[in-house]
Amino acid sequence: MSVSIVSVALVNRPIFTTYDYRLNLKKHHDPEKLIGSRVLVPFSQHQITKKGATSLGIITAFKDHSFTQVASLNEATLIDEECPFGEDIFKTIMFASEYCHYPIGQCFFAALPLALREGKECALPKIEGLTLTEKAPTLIASYKEKGKLRAPLQLKLIEILTENKAQGAMPISAIKDRGIGTPIINALIEKGIAKKVKSDLGELNWSEKLDTLEIIKTSGPILNAEQQIAVDTISSILEFKTFLLNGITGSGKTEVYLNVIANILKKGKAVLVLIPEIALTPQTFERFQKRFNVPVISMHSALSDKERFEAYLAMKFGKGGVLVGTRSALFTPIPNLGLIILDEEHDSSFKQTDNLRYHARTLAIKRAQLCNCPIVLGSATPCLETIHNADLGIYERLDLINRAGGASLPNFELINLTLEPMSHGMNCGIGTTLENAIGEETVKGNQVLLFLNRRGYSRHLFCHRCGKIFTCPHCDNVMTVHRQENALICHICDHRENLPRICPECNCNELLETGFGTEQVEEFLHNRYPDVTVERIDRDTVKNREDLEAKINRIRSGKTCIIVGTQMLAKGHDFPDVTLVGILDIDAGLFSDDFRSLEFTAQLITQVAGRAGRALKQGKVIIQSHHPENFLIYGLIEERRSYMEIAHLLINMREQLHLPPFTYQASISTNSEDREKAHLFLLEIMTKINQLPEALTVEATPVLPDKIEKRQNRHYFHVVITCHSLQDRKAYLDKIVLIVTQLQIPPKVRFAIDVDPLIMT
Ligand code: ADP
Ligand code: ZN
Repeated sequence: MSVSIVSVALVNRPIFTTYDYRLNLKKHHDPEKLIGSRVLVPFSQHQITKKGATSLGIITAFKDHSFTQVASLNEATLIDEECPFGEDIFKTIMFASEYCHYPIGQCFFAALPLALREGKECALPKIEGLTLTEKAPTLIASYKEKGKLRAPLQLKLIEILTENKAQGAMPISAIKDRGIGTPIINALIEKGIAKKVKSDLGELNWSEKLDTLEIIKTSGPILNAEQQIAVDTISSILEFKTFLLNGITGSGKTEVYLNVIANILKKGKAVLVLIPEIALTPQTFERFQKRFNVPVISMHSALSDKERFEAYLAMKFGKGGVLVGTRSALFTPIPNLGLIILDEEHDSSFKQTDNLRYHARTLAIKRAQLCNCPIVLGSATPCLETIHNADLGIYERLDLINRAGGASLPNFELINLTLEPMSHGMNCGIGTTLENAIGEETVKGNQVLLFLNRRGYSRHLFCHRCGKIFTCPHCDNVMTVHRQENALICHICDHRENLPRICPECNCNELLETGFGTEQVEEFLHNRYPDVTVERIDRDTVKNREDLEAKINRIRSGKTCIIVGTQMLAKGHDFPDVTLVGILDIDAGLFSDDFRSLEFTAQLITQVAGRAGRALKQGKVIIQSHHPENFLIYGLIEERRSYMEIAHLLINMREQLHLPPFTYQASISTNSEDREKAHLFLLEIMTKINQLPEALTVEATPVLPDKIEKRQNRHYFHVVITCHSLQDRKAYLDKIVLIVTQLQIPPKVRFAIDVDPLIMT
């Protein structure tokens, strides 16, 4: 036994540093393998060397010496005999802490499954097995003598168990596979010849049966030339490299993934596929599962903690070949990882917006680098940062510019709403041209899809007589009218009130509504086209995965219908019978003060338009605007420029304005129920940093209240910094962390850093 000093990150403690502990090492312990292992340590925040409550920690390093005498260091007790999640995950988490400037212990908390945070064992669940008892030989002899052991299947089972004895217990499932059922097993147990035991004996992993395993279960379509080039290029790379698979909607990106995955699996390596939250329906999952003879495992937020942990263990122990999961699946241990795919890489659900505010793309690329394997970012509308990196040659871009399988691209029509007559439909974003087109398509038995990113019936309610506006009591936000639920609902905190009939201020019954949402559009369509079913898809009609699946299945059954939906619709779903797509109220995205809103609008138009004419029917997309001269709308629709061309215009604008991807941003924010406290703390931090040389290298906004300052009774303040290099940003944020640690966050105030923020608050 020997004594070492280890640095320990305290799981879920808001502390940026690690602490030193003493660790007794046994002979068989390998310090290299113990980095990342869990330990239990005594800890109290203020008296570090005195005994405190026990805390879960992660060993982050072995040290030669400590500032504290070894003898007076507290002792850490090992939970694991080696790191339970592997070196690559360990390093990815360490990187996340450094890059996102988030306390190291809380990074581990965010990345580890509940069971590991609770100190549970990281081992495959035990499998029920059967084995012969010690007394078996004598018992068998005596039963045989008495003529009480003659059933052929019982004899066969004894024979099987005897044969298998050297390998330990035999899994019950394997016994049943050999045609022996429960009554026979129970008969031997009753006789005292056999007994059930729990063991961790599983079947062989798929990769151990590679010689005889046919990887492909059902083959897909023959690839077109573009797809084949993409598959060959990616498959030829066996080390770290980032690819951008830029393929228009319906160009067969998923087919490219499936073919590349097959090539990786054939080498006995496993694959991680990350997809946006909403896109992970059983359909997507099935598409992967149907293709391969190796276990495909899914991981997403609808699973229970227990199910998530089972998936985690299955991947860790090499039982799964492909893991298809959302954002946080990226922290799943996968030995022998051969490829990472991040589909719909522009999707904002890859960014975590609270706690550890990471972008799955940043960490997935880091992990691919650590595992020395390729990573593919796929999208029809890549984000500008990604395109810029491809332009610089940091990523290799592969293009799919044609639709696969003979489907043609839809025709576009730009409608100048200022020239349309005022009509009933116009009140909910449907001009006469679009109204007529909906009629024509539904008469032909086709489907129509209308997109509007605002749910509810009307946006505002106010009193005609006294002007009272109905705002949320907890947020600086107007409440939305929901007629079906007969409620006013705050879309920030979900606060609900009964829909008032009279004004509580002046008692009059003249209440006015303005602005329209999906519910009102649905009502208009019902009245206007009474014979056609309307499917509304938004958070009010789709509460979970099953609801969405049911709706999608109804639509896919091909019945004539009009689909009205929010952004839930814009993602990945394939509706082959949709021939007309209309976007209502695109103008909102053109005049936002958020510098990313033009990029988001261009992505939205392209993605929504991509839902039309996916099969062999010719599709049409109608875009209506009161500002048809706007360069983005005009460029995309009237001039039929590609998303890539428009993206490059936007990138040039960003360069002139010194915005990302040419600069690097972060937001530093505080919030509290006590407005003053939140405001003062951020001011104090900024006063301190502004005295340091690091402040000279960055541009910082003043301390500002968020656009919506009060949310759920908390007041939010922020500063956005813009830097010319990652180094400058890191140096500055390191200093911010130091200042915050020295000042200590006041009680009831929360502090956060968001690196590469996506939404300007
Ligand atoms: P994306 O992921 O780019 O949206 P998919 O891979 O889902 O595209 O392909 C769109 C449709 O085209 C799917 O129905 C798919 O089966 C079909 N498809 C893809 N590649 C081919 C091909 N080479 N030949 C025929 N059909 C194809
Ligand atoms: Zn609210």
